[in-house]
Amino acid sequence: MTEPLLRKKHGADCNIPNECDRVVPAWLIVLDNAPTAVLFLLGTAIIWNANPLLSLLFLAYCCLSIILFWKLICPWCHHFGTTGCPCGYAKIAARFFERKTGKEFKRVFKRNIVIVFPCWFVPLGTGIYLLWTDYSRALLYLFLAFCLVGFVLIPAISKFVGCRSCEIKEQCPWMS
Ligand code: SF4
Repeated sequence: MTEPLLRKKHGADCNIPNECDRVVPAWLIVLDNAPTAVLFLLGTAIIWNANPLLSLLFLAYCCLSIILFWKLICPWCHHFGTTGCPCGYAKIAARFFERKTGKEFKRVFKRNIVIVFPCWFVPLGTGIYLLWTDYSRALLYLFLAFCLVGFVLIPAISKFVGCRSCEIKEQCPWMS
């Protein structure tokens, strides 16, 4: 059976021309995921300065948020189960969760994206608090690195590299 027919059989054909045929290269998947991993570690380091135990809980939550993303968002995405996903989640998520249909992806994304907010905003808030109450130059550099990766680098990679060639980016709340 040919690859397109196999995808249709397994429910991964989204009926958007060419969309499911895109093969995202490995370097792009690494480029998409590495800054997120760095962000989680920088966030953990910031919170460590306030409370080491909480920082480890934060890191555990960051890992959990990825799994929740696979469960709550990816199954509704056109890329689910295909090689068209810029960060490679689609293939992994399809190993553990079933494809879902019947709801608009945009709405599902907007409703559930809140699960990753703590990964950005808990270190941000903690960093501001620590800079205010216990300033040090090392903490300032850590905080600036976190902001640069989280609020400049990651969105820029999505916009100009990872999601740039995605044919359904107009339908994605992250891009539109
Ligand atoms: S494009 Fe986003 S929502 Fe779609 S499968 Fe990939 S990570 Fe999940």
